[in-house]
Amino acid sequence: MSKDNHGGFLASVNRNFDKAAAVSNLPEGLLAQIKECNSVYQMRFPVKIGNDYKVIEAYRVQHSHHRLPTKGGIRYSQKVNQDEVMALASLMTYKCAIVDVPFGGAKGGVKISPREMTVPQLQKITRRYTAELIRKNFIGPGIDVPAPDYGTGSREMAWILDTYLSFKGGEIDAAGCVTGKPVHQNGIQGRTEATGRGVYYALKEAVSYKDDMAALGLETGMEGKTIAIQGLGNVGYHTGVICQEEGGSIIVSVAEYEGAIYNKKGIDIKALFKHRKETGSILDFPGAKNMKQRKRVLEVDCDILIPAALESQIRVDNAHKVKAKIVAEAANGPITAEAEEILLKMGVMILPDMYVNAGGVTVSYFEWLKNLSHMRFGRMEKRFNQNTYLNLVGLVERLTGKTIGVKERNLLTKGADEIDLVRSGLEETMITSYRQIRTILKKRKKIEDLRTAAFISALDKISSDYMALGIFP
Ligand code: NAD
Repeated sequence: MSKDNHGGFLASVNRNFDKAAAVSNLPEGLLAQIKECNSVYQMRFPVKIGNDYKVIEAYRVQHSHHRLPTKGGIRYSQKVNQDEVMALASLMTYKCAIVDVPFGGAKGGVKISPREMTVPQLQKITRRYTAELIRKNFIGPGIDVPAPDYGTGSREMAWILDTYLSFKGGEIDAAGCVTGKPVHQNGIQGRTEATGRGVYYALKEAVSYKDDMAALGLETGMEGKTIAIQGLGNVGYHTGVICQEEGGSIIVSVAEYEGAIYNKKGIDIKALFKHRKETGSILDFPGAKNMKQRKRVLEVDCDILIPAALESQIRVDNAHKVKAKIVAEAANGPITAEAEEILLKMGVMILPDMYVNAGGVTVSYFEWLKNLSHMRFGRMEKRFNQNTYLNLVGLVERLTGKTIGVKERNLLTKGADEIDLVRSGLEETMITSYRQIRTILKKRKKIEDLRTAAFISALDKISSDYMALGIFP
């Protein structure tokens, strides 16, 4: 941990909260209630690894119960600690409010290094962790709903659901106890890419304002923007692919655990992923040069820097070396509160984590709704819409005496599949939320940065929930 990050990640989140609270005009008691974590469950359980028993340290933190269920991912990392999980749970509350997902915030953490474990060992730990959550009533479709985070994915979510079902088999909505599940096991199309896709939609919206871009010396649009990405995991990979394929952006640098690479002409992310799978490393990728240290990715000359690995990556000791005009926090907490002050003084636009990476929880919300409705999106209306569009096209053809080509006909008459609806709902969410935040930034005096504006957006919504509950005047 760097010296500047006094008290660590949680202190950094709370420092940002205090900065926004000071300009929020909300009662102090209410702000104190919102800020604190409501329930912290710290557990230890033994798991047999080889011939030995290992005691596993794990957490589940529910930050706010103003809306239920609570929601947040589960992290597997050797660096997990209580403060980190509390910080991540707090961010989840603000994130859900910003994107109008009706949940309180939560987060889970298991202090293990998944890279050093076998699949059966990971399964054993995941199932035991789930059993502990069930035992203390810390999981359930109306209680607390986990999802993937750093070090976990759909495989772990399937194990969680299966364990839950073995305890609560008769529960009609049991499938909604966890999100991020494989599509064929009560998951939803588009969840795996959701956080990365959300980062892309957020960026696309942010770079669409002429005056904002002019202030940074940039043109509008994602086309041709140069991008550096730290971390090629779930979030970094999908962000990179979508920015490249749909946005026409150029990924000039990528860093992973083993090092960093640079190519000013652009790095094909799908090809890089394949290269890493085959060689075990992103290094020595054809056409790119290896960089001396992986952290140099944060300092390359580019328009947009996307930290998508872990917290506290940009600190007082390296903030001044950042050359990007925009930093999009795909990871949670990659910039310390102190480093943020430096970047803001340098004129860098910071798109804050609690907005930028909210695509994951947004599509998790869609998945949860799908589980509660017991039906995939689009099943009722797809064919009806398709037939209506076909009738319209037929009418146009009859009236004009012209025939529409097969390609155009298919495009015009397509009924929406689940994936189309999920992407459309996600895009709508990211655009609407950005406009709310930007309006707060432009209209409210004393608010000078997007993170504070995002906090205010969250605080306005959470406080009105508390007032509606009659808890505060
Ligand atoms: P992941 O485990 O899939 O990928 C993270 C990658 O970062 C790994 O490949 C790891 O090797 C790499 N990495 C770690 N330290 C690094 C370093 N110093 N330099 C370069 N690479 C490094 O995790 P993820 O799900 O992509 O999560 C990444 C971040 O995004 C986390 O902060 C997480 O909380 C946040 N996030 C994830 C989701 C989600 O849906 N998965 C949603 C919102 C936020």
